[in-house]
Amino acid sequence: MVIIGAGECGTRAAFALREAGYDGAVTLVGAEAHLPYERPPLSKDAMVAPEAPSIKAISDAARLTEHRIDLLGATSATSIDRANRSVRLSNGSDLDYDKLLVATGATPRRLPLSGLGQRCVYLRTFDDALAIRAHLRQGCHVAIIGGGFIGLELAASARRLGADVTIIEAQPRILMRGVPEEIATIVHEAHAAEGVDIVCGDGIASISNDGTSVRITLASGLQVTADLAIIGIGAVPATTLAESAGLTLNNGIAVDAQLRTSDPDIFSAGDCCSFPLAIYDDRRVRLEAWRSAQEHGALAARNMLGAEEAHACVPWFWSDQYGLSLQIAGLPDEGEDTVRRDLDDGAFILFHLKEDGRLVAASGIGPGNAVARDIRLAEMLIARSAHPDIGALAAPSVKLKSLLAA
Ligand code: FAD
Ligand code: NAP
Repeated sequence: MVIIGAGECGTRAAFALREAGYDGAVTLVGAEAHLPYERPPLSKDAMVAPEAPSIKAISDAARLTEHRIDLLGATSATSIDRANRSVRLSNGSDLDYDKLLVATGATPRRLPLSGLGQRCVYLRTFDDALAIRAHLRQGCHVAIIGGGFIGLELAASARRLGADVTIIEAQPRILMRGVPEEIATIVHEAHAAEGVDIVCGDGIASISNDGTSVRITLASGLQVTADLAIIGIGAVPATTLAESAGLTLNNGIAVDAQLRTSDPDIFSAGDCCSFPLAIYDDRRVRLEAWRSAQEHGALAARNMLGAEEAHACVPWFWSDQYGLSLQIAGLPDEGEDTVRRDLDDGAFILFHLKEDGRLVAASGIGPGNAVARDIRLAEMLIARSAHPDIGALAAPSVKLKSLLAA
């Protein structure tokens, strides 16, 4: 069993092969020089740590050895020879496989402008985080291009470190994709209250840099000068390897419900693939979320061993900014109607329903863990295609658990 990509998904898959009782060789090929690590802290806790950030390892070397997972770090897979079932590595060697998992993740979408220079940076890897952290200090000015998750989480971290922050978002509001407006408004207000300057509905016309600062000219003519510009304008699936191997692509590497690619011996999972989501009548989606990457890894491993199990999970993700946590289960854009439930301390949940009353998603925001339990229960209702009573959803006195029992 060969796994390309030692990220969240690939590493989970390696362990899941062992958990499923597989006793043969497992090789995990990872381009990065570090042990497999978690990405979510890179924009949050790791960024504000008083000392230099350190990785939060998914697994230490001892556990990899104990599970007989052969990690080839700082090694890239450069091509796949499907006819001979072999992977060519950057060190020139070849690795034969019976089943292959491509879990190459995603890379930051690049801003298509010239003149960016070294003070315009992206965040995906631990090394990126180290480079950003080295610039953040009291009183420095950071311009963040993109009001998505990377941009907003980094803005919160930069403020905690005392930096001045301007966010530039091309859309009319932040978190335009995937997050309902009522929730995005709370996030926007939290940033404004912390002193972040947010410019929405204005694109970037040009960027220049003189080696020590960056000058950004917006489409409206507004100019922003900063010590550092961080670009967080989305992620693109890492498909180069799959494409050159002739695998079918469709918004990432196209897989079926069992995460099998157009080659029956090759699976793909995590941020790099699109798959049919059963709970939404097989709508093809590509998810970029931590828990999905784990679920995919485990499912791909079982199917590499012949389980023939279909994907049946509800998407879920979270984001932490200042003391606020937002969580979304399901895809809110599947909903046609919304019901709001107000919780304590300003927290609330929006339930997203189809016209026929089927619950398809739930999104919530509040301090700390305020929405976690209800979102978890909503997720279970979504998985069961429940049609809960609307009055009960809206009433905080009615426990969601009782709807589950019903
Ligand atoms: P990745 O984690 O990207 O791993 C892919 C790995 O494959 C990489 O290490 C890459 O170097 C390697 N690779 C690629 N090509 C090759 C090759 N040819 N040969 C060898 N190796 C290769 N999600 C949430 O739900 N909540 C959060 O709060 C959250 N915060 C995040 C914060 C940051 C800063 C980032 C970047 C992401 C965050 N995410 C969050 C998203 C989550 O981390 C990703 O969805 C998850 O990491 C995807 O896992 P993956 O294994 O598919 O891809
Ligand atoms: P994102 O959430 O897709 O947000 C990018 C934002 O930038 C979008 O609103 C996008 O608008 C906007 N944008 C695009 N082009 C722009 C331009 N030229 N100028 C200004 N704004 C522009 O992506 P991201 O924040 O960069 O995150 C990258 C990856 O990290 C994703 O995989 C994400 O899931 C992951 N991540 C997740 C979390 C989390 O889940 N908590 C946290 C951090 C990172 P459009 O919609 O028009 O493109």
